[in-house]
Amino acid sequence: PEVIAVLPAAGIGSRMQAECPKQYLTIGGKTLIEHSIRALLHSSNVTKVIVALSPHDTQFRQLPVASDPRIQLVTGGNERAESVMAGLEAAGDHGWVLVHDAARPCLHPDDLTNLLAISAISKIGGILAAPVRDTMKRGEPGAHAISHTVDRQELWHALTPQFFPLELLKTCLRRALNEGAVVTDEASAMEYCGFHPMLIPARADNIKVTRPEDLALAEFYLTRLYQ
Ligand code: C5P
Repeated sequence: PEVIAVLPAAGIGSRMQAECPKQYLTIGGKTLIEHSIRALLHSSNVTKVIVALSPHDTQFRQLPVASDPRIQLVTGGNERAESVMAGLEAAGDHGWVLVHDAARPCLHPDDLTNLLAISAISKIGGILAAPVRDTMKRGEPGAHAISHTVDRQELWHALTPQFFPLELLKTCLRRALNEGAVVTDEASAMEYCGFHPMLIPARADNIKVTRPEDLALAEFYLTRLYQ
């Protein structure tokens, strides 16, 4: 089936201590956002990528990918969830939607294929996720001491893309935003409305470039991905 992707890219990347928003940092001569778009369009099911940009963005339109007819631009919001909402509003009203971070350039084609396959077996949707490897501790209030160890068998890192029926996600995200819920990914809006999206085990190297040291790591993973 045809799938639309929404790519929130309206963040300023304040944690990167870089001159430009992190999605415009480059690896191998290409910006992170171009790598992320390429990864999505690698699937022939993905027919459109809606990119949510800051109203102050001057860089995206200068990239070669900006003239790709499959790219559509919308203006993002102050929070990631608002940028996603703007993308969903522009995505129409039927089918399924992928939401992916502009700052996750290392998405593997096999993981994307596995995620897209759930539309045949789920009515709710799901997310790529990696099992937690470290032993996990809950801190005491103030977190200067351990309260207890959390069973890591039940813990997963939530990654992107996340994949949902478009109308259902739109309804849940709108409600979660209106009611002031904490929404750090699309699945949390679904959970807020009582749904239990699927966890699709994925490669842990699908990292979000957040801190300066992540860039070298992403470069290493990307080189292996496309060699
Ligand atoms: O800051 P964080 O790492 O959570 O950002 C994840 C993604 O959300 C990035 O691609 C960023 O550009 C995007 N974002 C957005 N609108 C915002 C904040 C972040 O589209 N207001």
